[in-house]
Amino acid sequence: MISISDFAADARAFLDAHCERRVEEQLGWGEGSDRVSMFEERSKDEEHALVARAKQWRNTVFDAGFGWITGPVEFGGGGLTADHQRAYNEAAAQYRTPDESPFVIGLGMVAPTILAHAIPEVRERYLRSLWRGDIIGCQLFSEPVAGSDLAGIQTRAVRDGDEWILTGQKVWTSGAQFSDIGEIITRTSPDKPKHKGLTMFLIDMRDPAIEVRPLRQMTGGASFNEVFLTELRVPDSHRLGDVDEGWGVALTTLMNERMAIGAGGGGGGGSDRSFVRFVQMAKHYGVDREPVMRQKLADYYVHSQAARLNNLRAVSKVKAGQTPGPELSIAKLASTNNMQRASKLVGDVLGPRLVADTGEWGTFAWSEMVLGVPGGRIAGGSDEVMHNILGERVLGLPKEPGHQR
Ligand SMILES: Cc1cc2nc3c(=O)[nH]c(=O)nc-3n(C[C@H](O)[C@H](O)[C@H](O)COP(=O)(O)OP(=O)(O)OC[C@H]3O[C@@H](n4cnc5c(N)ncnc54)[C@H](O)[C@@H]3O)c2cc1C
Repeated sequence: MISISDFAADARAFLDAHCERRVEEQLGWGEGSDRVSMFEERSKDEEHALVARAKQWRNTVFDAGFGWITGPVEFGGGGLTADHQRAYNEAAAQYRTPDESPFVIGLGMVAPTILAHAIPEVRERYLRSLWRGDIIGCQLFSEPVAGSDLAGIQTRAVRDGDEWILTGQKVWTSGAQFSDIGEIITRTSPDKPKHKGLTMFLIDMRDPAIEVRPLRQMTGGASFNEVFLTELRVPDSHRLGDVDEGWGVALTTLMNERMAIGAGGGGGGGSDRSFVRFVQMAKHYGVDREPVMRQKLADYYVHSQAARLNNLRAVSKVKAGQTPGPELSIAKLASTNNMQRASKLVGDVLGPRLVADTGEWGTFAWSEMVLGVPGGRIAGGSDEVMHNILGERVLGLPKEPGHQR
């Protein structure tokens, strides 16, 4: 196996050949773009261009052997270790690489579930294409009456010989508009207790039996959708896991989701460009000299750093082959609490400038981020649900009356 240092040198040579080195941004107040967002809002044309660029970049990275470093060789992976992956990540952080956000769900949640639960032919058919960026995956879990209580979903799957017929409605499906495949949870045995009659499938999002309708968010963009399925036929080979055992499969996906949203992030923004912008803003308006504001700033920074370190703990557990438990719920909650802190601070400094667009640089622009934060507090398990998990599983408090998980 190639040594870590040789691998890191190869990674740097590859990145040198394809990307520019990242130079620390030294922009002052009023310089450059003032855009600060949580879910970046894009026009359809911008979205098409982003997806095309991201696919092209993943093709290049994968073909050079850096696209799925730790994946099993038989499905197109590099068969290397988590340390090799870390070496690549550290090298890539020094370069301006293209935005890969269209792949977050497909690679962060769907691909690990396919690897863990699909039959070998299905793994062979999709894993390489997902990791190479030829196709994109989405997650079809939530329904109008089932979000936090995911086991309450109603989309039906009825067996018909070697196929299943799926009918129902999903909602809040991020990226369905540009996805090629979807991981969908369905009800196969309505007569069984609700966690026991569920089955997971992989579906073709381009099938005419699927209709994707965009939903506009309060931030202005439309990054998620309603998805209607009308008698969609799915081969039994595309079942993930056993019939009526979909709940266990969903837990694989949800654990990876918390990893991608919470532990995968920086802990709520304390070390990124938005924090630098924030300090500049505080100085510009002279509030950096106010004792209460200074305390709030320091509080936000300390919490962000603590969250970042906790995330590293969860990530290193995963990389060491262990299953992280409550760290992922803590990571998700800490990250969204910090985003909420940041939102409040921005409001404290800017006041009415945050909601009325006066054209002043670096003011109204924050509204895109502030309006995105509630979405972050809901996506991937709401704050309240994370509190419940920590209360019950870490502190050993009694379960909610009448609520089973
Ligand atoms: C940005 C974003 C992206 C998303 N992307 C996807 C996606 O790609 N695929 C997908 O399937 N879904 C997606 N979702 C949906 C998300 O998973 C659900 O919104 C989430 O699970 C909450 O479900 P709900 O919206 O039905 O709210 P509900 O479950 O109805 O909750 C409403 C309120 O009640 C509270 N609540 C619910 N149960 C409890 C309880 N037991 N104890 C205390 N309080 C409780 C909640 O915290 C919340 O405040 C996305 C959501 C967002 C915001």
